[in-house]
Amino acid sequence: MRIDIVSIFPEYFAPLDVSLLGKARAAGILDIEVHQLRDWTTDRHRTVDDTPYGGGPGMVMKPEPWGRALDAVLAAGREAGPAAPVPRLVVPTPSGRPFTQVHAQRLAAEPWLLFACGRYEGIDARVVEDARQRMPVDELSIGDYVLAGGESAALVIIEAVSRLLPGVLGNADSVVDDSFAAGPMSALLEGPVYTKPASWREHEVPAVLLSGDHGAVARWRRDQALLRTAANRPELLAGRGPDDLDRRDLEV
Ligand code: SAM
Repeated sequence: MRIDIVSIFPEYFAPLDVSLLGKARAAGILDIEVHQLRDWTTDRHRTVDDTPYGGGPGMVMKPEPWGRALDAVLAAGREAGPAAPVPRLVVPTPSGRPFTQVHAQRLAAEPWLLFACGRYEGIDARVVEDARQRMPVDELSIGDYVLAGGESAALVIIEAVSRLLPGVLGNADSVVDDSFAAGPMSALLEGPVYTKPASWREHEVPAVLLSGDHGAVARWRRDQALLRTAANRPELLAGRGPDDLDRRDLEV
């Protein structure tokens, strides 16, 4: 997968060289390029922001540097040939759709993602309007809180997407049991996990996990997932009748 990122703080993306993502880059699974938005300014001060129309506090990111930056990334990709794909533009914003594992799975199927990281009060709305004429666009929020910039949100999305790419995780089955994963545990939180030793500070690993009975272990995990989901995220169970939950019990 190719990922382009445009930001006024390219140094924010140093963590992309660490751990699983660093290895995925080294292995050629991820091809990531980070661009400095200010390279597409034309004035001496490399200005990227201006006061908001209509008044109000803060500054808004100017459309011109963004327009030029997105055009340039698109053109660089097109050099690969007329049949080259267009990127999917991802714009992190608190006013976007909530980013979920379903989005992560969809984005992981794309060959090319382009992230536009806003700062200040955000990016002039015409940038997304204009981009939509040339590429698909997702405006995504990583949660109901406001960050100082889109960089950390882009990192979150990139990590969630990248770990779904074939070859990134040591054991591809890891994602199957994850919270929110598709399948029998669909949209449930993962229950508690344990490792050795079986007894630690008088806390015992649940006996069923030591039983060797795979069916009993699967049912216990399913029950724990339901309990944790009911306690921490009851809204994920809303709309599911007992029949649905029973049917899913038979699937594990
Ligand atoms: N005035 C904006 C609002 O209230 O919607 C907030 C702008 S915020 C200070 C600056 C930038 O941080 C945004 O343009 C966006 O890129 C990023 N950002 C902040 N919170 C975010 C969130 N919850 N999810 C995704 N991006 C976020």
